[in-house]
Amino acid sequence: MLSPAQKEEIRRFADRITPKSWNLVLRPEDEIKAPGVLNILISIQKPENEVFTDYFGNKCYPCECKDGIKYFENRYGDVFLKNQVKPALGMVSGRMVFKDVKPTRTERKGKVAKITIKLWPYLGDWKGTMIHELAHVAVFRYNAFKTREYRERALFKNPWNIDLKTLVIKKKLLREGHHGPAFQRAFSMLAKRAIREFGAQIPSDDIFWITVRYELEKYKGRRKY
Ligand SMILES: [Zn+2]
Repeated sequence: MLSPAQKEEIRRFADRITPKSWNLVLRPEDEIKAPGVLNILISIQKPENEVFTDYFGNKCYPCECKDGIKYFENRYGDVFLKNQVKPALGMVSGRMVFKDVKPTRTERKGKVAKITIKLWPYLGDWKGTMIHELAHVAVFRYNAFKTREYRERALFKNPWNIDLKTLVIKKKLLREGHHGPAFQRAFSMLAKRAIREFGAQIPSDDIFWITVRYELEKYKGRRKY
């Protein structure tokens, strides 16, 4: 079990490496319901809620044969044994939700966004995991803006409301895949920010340096192609 101080350390780490409009909270009550704010709920998980993934990071569901043999299956129907799956250290839970905010006298009308990051900090390097999950959130946010912008532009130009551009954009975004170029850019930015902000405080033998350097190197190599 994590103490409140340890949970706050995780929250502060995420808060300091993300833009000001991103509000990192440990409890839903601390969300700020103002236009332009992205509330990110950090949900610290327990061993009984572990989620298993295959080599590619696809979620795997525990199954049991009639004869009692336990195995895992991903959504593509691939079957794995316990030693072929690993517990996820973190995951972005569900979609980014947007809500209209009622304007007060001082505020303009707008939307507030919300998303949840689940974290299993006892399983490994929570700092590297947090950077990874925040990079996914950055891509979600970017895609949401892009999609909305194109939808508005397409509607303006196209009185019959044939939303072709949105369709094209969505396809392109989907094709980029889970850890595509946009994700890699976001990860690099967040990792560099974390090293600038916290590098001096993180001991040189902390596993953070291994996991983050490994991931940065991986993306650096991939960009050559
Ligand atoms: Zn990922």
